[in-house]
Amino acid sequence: LETKEEFEHKTLAMDVMRPRRSDPPLSVLTQDGMTVEEVEAMISDTSYSGFPVVVSNESQRLVGFVLRRDLVISIDNARRCQEGIVGASHILFTDHSPSQPLGGPPPLNLRSILDLSPLAVTDHTPMEITVDIFRKLGLRQCLVTQNGRLLGIITKKDILKHMAQMANRDPDSILFN
Ligand code: ADP
Repeated sequence: LETKEEFEHKTLAMDVMRPRRSDPPLSVLTQDGMTVEEVEAMISDTSYSGFPVVVSNESQRLVGFVLRRDLVISIDNARRCQEGIVGASHILFTDHSPSQPLGGPPPLNLRSILDLSPLAVTDHTPMEITVDIFRKLGLRQCLVTQNGRLLGIITKKDILKHMAQMANRDPDSILFN
């Protein structure tokens, strides 16, 4: 049992999070740098349930998390009902106007659908603790950061898959679970 505990402690958030080294980078939205059509392209090119929103691609500072379904509904509504919203409109998640004038069509502000405090753990957080947080808070996903920069995401399914893999590899953990 001791070995098992030691083993569990050795698995860190960075070992379970996506993307893996060989995967394409995390699909993120920037808080004021993307147009409606760019976001629509990201929605149709991926099937993720949600997207982290960052200050900028360079900084990768986390601003919040937005669910795919909320994005789809809001963009759809805005395109149909909101005056001047077209593919070239900028999407903003900010609570202020951008520092530089955007020009072009009026922007679409989607701050209201942004979860401003998504749960995040650091890359070195032991999975034992992360799993505990998932259980206690009933999370669907959790973000992973390193020195304040967004690094990855862990979903409930990622954890379940990881646990199944561990159970296969380590017969003791089957015995004791
Ligand atoms: P689930 O894990 O329940 O299928 P998703 O469809 O959101 O949930 O995620 C599928 C996989 O993609 C998971 O391994 C997850 O870690 C990863 N993932 C989720 N969101 C993103 C994202 N925005 N960018 C890159 N990978 C993501």
